[in-house]
Amino acid sequence: MPPRQAGLGILIVNVQVQPTQTIYIHAKLAECTSVLMAEAVSLAFAATVAETLNLSNINFLSDCQQLVHFLNAADQSNPPDWRIKPFTQMFSNCARSRESKIFKIKRQLNSTADALARQALSVSASQYSSLEPTCSYEHHVLQCSLLQALQAVDLNNVGSVRLVYKPFVLICTTDLLREKNNVS
Ligand SMILES: [Zn+2]
Repeated sequence: MPPRQAGLGILIVNVQVQPTQTIYIHAKLAECTSVLMAEAVSLAFAATVAETLNLSNINFLSDCQQLVHFLNAADQSNPPDWRIKPFTQMFSNCARSRESKIFKIKRQLNSTADALARQALSVSASQYSSLEPTCSYEHHVLQCSLLQALQAVDLNNVGSVRLVYKPFVLICTTDLLREKNNVS
């Protein structure tokens, strides 16, 4: 398969704070060689965000059976595709140091992340360059500490891979019912 663009979608729900924070992220990979690669980069990206926000005891959820199986195995010396090794390593390091777990979920339950990934692909290059990460939480109009934390790190790169466009982040939405408006 020739390298092509892939959309990444990440949904973070932080129930360790009140009110619950919901963070939506979508980004785009310039050259992706397989579905497995897109999944592995997504997890590495989620791990990077988790580290940035200093989250721990995270339950990572993925609908990629092959990857979840590999990441839960005792022996991780043989990834299903060698090219994903740097990303699975980034994820494993984070999972270990932050006492986190990864579970397989059904694709139907992953619809929000899926929608974010598809939305990333539908956004054109020129649209992406005009998008700025924003917080939609009404009480954060003047200042959002999550937004500041995320802007302090270089999220344009995940390991050695450069995301083709700046990741677009919608954060701090506290009402899950607003999901549809934000994502579609
Ligand atoms: Zn905020």
